[in-house]
Amino acid sequence: MLLYISAMAKTPKCKDLSTAEITITGTVQGVGFRPFIHRLAEKYAVSGTVINRTGSVLVTAAAPKKRLDAFIKAIPKEKPPPAQISAISVKFIGTRRFKGFSIEKSSGSGEIKQIPPDLCVCPDCLLEFNDKNDRRYHYPFINCTNCGPRFTIIKDTPYDRSKTSMKHFKMCPDCEKEYRDISNRRYHAEPNACPKCGPKAWLADKNGKKITVKDPFSRARELLKQGRIIAVKGLGGFHLAVNASDEKAVQNLKVRKKRSNKPFAVMADTIKKIRTFAHVTPDDIKLLQSSAAPVVLLPLRKNSAIAKDVALGLKHAGVFMPYTPLHYLLFDREIKALVMTSANMAEEPIQHDNSEAMGALAGIADYYLLHDRDILIPADDSVLKHSDVGPVFIRRSRGYVPGPVIIGGKNPDVIGTGALMKNSVCFIKGNRAIMSQHIGDLENAKAEKYFEETIGNFVKFYGIKPRAVACDKHPDYISTRFAESFAARKKIKLFMVQHHYSHMLSVMAEKGLKSKALGIILDGTGYGDDGNIWGGEFLIGDVKGFERAGHFKYIKLPGGDLASTETDRSAISILSGFLTDGEIIAEYGAERAKALLQALKLNINTPRSSSVGRLFDAAASITGTCSLSTYDAEAPMRFEAAAFDRKASKSYGYIINNSADSVEIDMQPAFSQLWQDRTRAMAPVNFHLTIANAAYEAAELISKKMAIKDIILSGGVFQNTVLLEMILKRLKKAGFNVLMHEKLPPNDGSIALGQAYYAANNI
Ligand code: ZN
Ligand code: ZN
Ligand code: FE
Repeated sequence: MLLYISAMAKTPKCKDLSTAEITITGTVQGVGFRPFIHRLAEKYAVSGTVINRTGSVLVTAAAPKKRLDAFIKAIPKEKPPPAQISAISVKFIGTRRFKGFSIEKSSGSGEIKQIPPDLCVCPDCLLEFNDKNDRRYHYPFINCTNCGPRFTIIKDTPYDRSKTSMKHFKMCPDCEKEYRDISNRRYHAEPNACPKCGPKAWLADKNGKKITVKDPFSRARELLKQGRIIAVKGLGGFHLAVNASDEKAVQNLKVRKKRSNKPFAVMADTIKKIRTFAHVTPDDIKLLQSSAAPVVLLPLRKNSAIAKDVALGLKHAGVFMPYTPLHYLLFDREIKALVMTSANMAEEPIQHDNSEAMGALAGIADYYLLHDRDILIPADDSVLKHSDVGPVFIRRSRGYVPGPVIIGGKNPDVIGTGALMKNSVCFIKGNRAIMSQHIGDLENAKAEKYFEETIGNFVKFYGIKPRAVACDKHPDYISTRFAESFAARKKIKLFMVQHHYSHMLSVMAEKGLKSKALGIILDGTGYGDDGNIWGGEFLIGDVKGFERAGHFKYIKLPGGDLASTETDRSAISILSGFLTDGEIIAEYGAERAKALLQALKLNINTPRSSSVGRLFDAAASITGTCSLSTYDAEAPMRFEAAAFDRKASKSYGYIINNSADSVEIDMQPAFSQLWQDRTRAMAPVNFHLTIANAAYEAAELISKKMAIKDIILSGGVFQNTVLLEMILKRLKKAGFNVLMHEKLPPNDGSIALGQAYYAANNI
């Protein structure tokens, strides 16, 4: 946080009274900031006004100088927990007199509507929640101005109780009194409620029949201890909960959920409990306890009490803390940790409606813990991953969305429709970009509907009047086809932006960068400008366009898209470059190897690809780490786990072909050494180092040719923090200025921002 005292500051003429204009920027709207300033002003006997400005709050405050200084100092110290102040600037403006202190109505014009993200239950509410004498003792929906549901309960803007799913609950006199009292913590807390007037929770059996018990939560805890699976309706959707220490129960959940080896997320209600099964740093704790309360991927302890099936062979597990009061009621001293996995099948959107969920989860859930506060906007949990260079977003959703990404400048309204997988949509308006929640993979009808609803909602909420829409260049993406018809319907401009250039632009947007930089974009799959599959790209570009300065050498992918799940396809393609057919058949079996070798020789459906994701797939296959990805990027994730916490003993070889107009990295020598090393435990980490070195050297060559010092890292491969740490170390040591995502994931979840940023700059 920066505290600027304006250079124009002058000593006030009047000895007693001085007046200051205090501009506070950051996340300061929709988090109870103005009532907080009002209360603080009363505490310090300061007069003046407070008003919301675009992306900031302006306080005009008058008091004797000493008291005024104390007031200013108290702002960052006593701010509401969910508020995040990025800067406070103070300008003394001589003397002005005010009658008391007041909150002024925002001027409206040019003002961008704000919808706050959902906020984790705050410490003050938790105190009351645990106080036997409080009227909200153990009330699962306790909230205040500093915490509670926001985004997930809105129907329209401005954010007002009557436009949320709380409109069905009429406040009782006690709640109403709090809501009207400016000195109260619940002043204008839109979802304010109590057991008398607010939402209620109940337990239902597997047929949806309500179970009449005095305390549904105490019964739910008993059931969890018996190994039952409970579908729990929370904030942004349903979770399936089971006791994480119960090996059998977790296995049962895995069997009933079917289809994939996807690891489960684990919730625990204290840091002490988390420490029993995972390694946590002070930074991780901050993140776990932040008002966004995301899932944090943490390294697991060996031999912990947690069921083996939770992490399913990976070294990390997603860990999070209760973020609603309701979640706290699922824990007691005996329940150490709960598996809390999104209650959706495979890549479908998260379940959020009571009756729909009961239909979809039949045969999986033994019981349902339901409530009657409707979830109007479903939102999955956000996921971040611990790394030595700071947390990396894997998924940005509940708790962060729809918090804006400030991109600066005045931009026309534009929409980016995102990619196919991990889809999220972006809306640029004014100086900000608003990313939608995680929508997921658009390849099923439910997700497609959710995608279109989301676009409709955001357009309505923010009054977006799009002047252009941007999408991927892949002709078959649902998001591309939507953009094409949307542009035609609205008669607006359509921009098609290359996938990896969008990755690069999304970092530029986050950093407000417009000038030339070198992007190292390591990715799974993206449609290339030459019709090939790209994904190991070195791009030189600014906001106006890019040139492909280098790439990993193409390999053939027998079976095309199938290669991203069946890892032997990439492996055999590469191995056939230096092994005999006989050697490959000996390793992979006659039937399979012959079929793939034949396809390669005759070029039957063998698109060419520079994807680094596929190189990791091949390496996972060759080392026997993973033969089949049952969920997106499983093989590279397992391969990363095999490299985690090891020091590389050597780097394998590679060839960098440096011609006048392009740099090409040939990894065949590395694969031939990996083949020799394939049974050695060091092979995975050595391979990681090789990719890092090769990417670094190619980038260094290009940056010298082009005299560029700004390097951008993006693409799904950078979720691999073993690789990220290695590349970063070399780039930083060489003095490069490295730019990475801070607010968005490096994977396709950030594509929409890059697309929209391009449209805004080229309209
Ligand atoms: Zn609260
Ligand atoms: Zn009430
Ligand atoms: Fe991508």
